[in-house]
Amino acid sequence: MTRDINPKNIFMSVQELDIKVERKSLSELELETKGTIFWNLSPAELVEHSLANKEGNLTDVGALMADTGEFTGRSPKDRFIVKDSETENTVWWSDINIPFDEANFDRLYNKMISFLGNRNLYVRDAIAGADEKYRLNLRIINTLAWHNMFCYNMFLRPDKDQLEDFDPDFTIICIPEFKANPDTDGTRQENFAAINLTRKILLIGGTAYAGEMKKGIFSVLNYILPHKHGVLSMHCSANVGKEGDTAVFFGLSGTGKTTLSADPDRSLIGDDEHGWNEDSVFNFEGGCYAKVIDLSREKEPEIWDAIKFGAIVENTRFYPGTRTVDYSNKQVTENTRTSYPIYHIKNALPNSIAGIPKNIFFLTADAFGVIPPISKLNKSQAMYHFISGYTAKVAGTEVDVTEPKTTFSACFGAAFLPLHPTRYAELFGEKMEKHQVNVWLINTGWTGGPYGVGSRMKLKYTRAMISAALEGKLDHVAYRKHSVFGIGIPESCPNVPDHVLSPRATWEDKAAYDLKARELGTAFIQNFEKYLDFATDDILAGAPKF
Ligand code: ATP
Ligand code: MN
Repeated sequence: MTRDINPKNIFMSVQELDIKVERKSLSELELETKGTIFWNLSPAELVEHSLANKEGNLTDVGALMADTGEFTGRSPKDRFIVKDSETENTVWWSDINIPFDEANFDRLYNKMISFLGNRNLYVRDAIAGADEKYRLNLRIINTLAWHNMFCYNMFLRPDKDQLEDFDPDFTIICIPEFKANPDTDGTRQENFAAINLTRKILLIGGTAYAGEMKKGIFSVLNYILPHKHGVLSMHCSANVGKEGDTAVFFGLSGTGKTTLSADPDRSLIGDDEHGWNEDSVFNFEGGCYAKVIDLSREKEPEIWDAIKFGAIVENTRFYPGTRTVDYSNKQVTENTRTSYPIYHIKNALPNSIAGIPKNIFFLTADAFGVIPPISKLNKSQAMYHFISGYTAKVAGTEVDVTEPKTTFSACFGAAFLPLHPTRYAELFGEKMEKHQVNVWLINTGWTGGPYGVGSRMKLKYTRAMISAALEGKLDHVAYRKHSVFGIGIPESCPNVPDHVLSPRATWEDKAAYDLKARELGTAFIQNFEKYLDFATDDILAGAPKF
């Protein structure tokens, strides 16, 4: 039986959409567009636009699924900072902070503005920095609706009053469709992220990896906060217990910041970027950006449950013939992600501000299997390891890498630090001196041997060790010193088998362990040579010895 389908009837239930088109002007950017400016659309509207624009699909739990295209991660070699009279003597110029010519920036800006001339734009007013005193008002100009939704999720959302007379401090212009010409624009390739701290503009082109916006603004705050306000900015997650005890978790990508800060017994402050001022720790962001590769409800229930309407999943694939995401699918990348507003986590702290940390965890994914799964650091060791910022990149993702690659990234986030690492280390040291903070080193990486021989530390053990440390259950147990690193290894921990606590005990070949430990110790010492001018005897007392 066929039914008479009148297309008119099919659409009867679709309301005439009341689209918010505010004819606000972007004239301060000298931007005139013949297209439509969609200003501060809600997530529901942005999902409608994303689907209508064919930017993505809807998953069966109501999340928006989008691809980031050629770039499935940040491109650090294409992240520039304009070198001018403001930054010339303040930014630490290096292969991380790559200088960009002022005139090239201005030209690129003009080209991008004219590129936008007849496009529809998604504009958003947002905030970075939960502390009123240090907040940065952002105006974000996107060509993709899903990017604008990413910004809704990831930055703080201004309330009605804050929107009334919103005055932007910094502008992001992100146009994936715009490609630079390396021959004339001073870029390395067609893609770029260029920060101008004088004009207060972040330009992004040639890449649709949305994380460039988030980490670009993080870099801006990492310049402004320590340099202008003496506030320590940190690449860390943070949560707070019922007694008001704050914990922060420093760590490079993939070491467990997001995973371990989502704890049903503690309130989440944030999963990636925070400031530490005179009396509090505050989130810079309004959402989380979690890895979803091999995600399971059993292991990470908070993150799993946060993926619903309002969340975005990036670079994932469906089980064929369904709209169910297959989190084991690595077809596009291992760096599959979800972004969601922080209120998707049930026990997130509403104002994202808590007190001075009582416990600090340095997370490392040691692929050598040398670093103990939990150890306690004294002040010298804490400074030494903070400046070192050790983790290991695992083989497998790059064709030629067969051995795990030792990586040292100062302050656990050198890629985002425009100032010299010693500036952050000084602030960190001062704060540690002033407040009685416990500092722990956690190896979320390998145990029982190096990558290839051993296995990754079980998440449930890492969680048990962190809980024990937070609950003071490691305060009165026996400790012994690691033979090379001198750090304190607890001999017992609730809910963790004793032998797991000693990396050497988990290796079959003890001589091989001792050799690897010395090898890693040597790598630390070599890496630290560049800080010898800055390092005091007190800091050097925290170095490995053998
Ligand atoms: P980024 O800075 O890129 O956001 P991150 O530090 O937040 O990185 P996570 O997103 O928490 O890193 O990633 C840790 C990954 O490692 C998760 O996929 C998690 O499931 C996995 N994992 C496996 N074993 C452990 C463990 N013992 N501890 C923590 N994470 C583990
Ligand atoms: Mn994270």
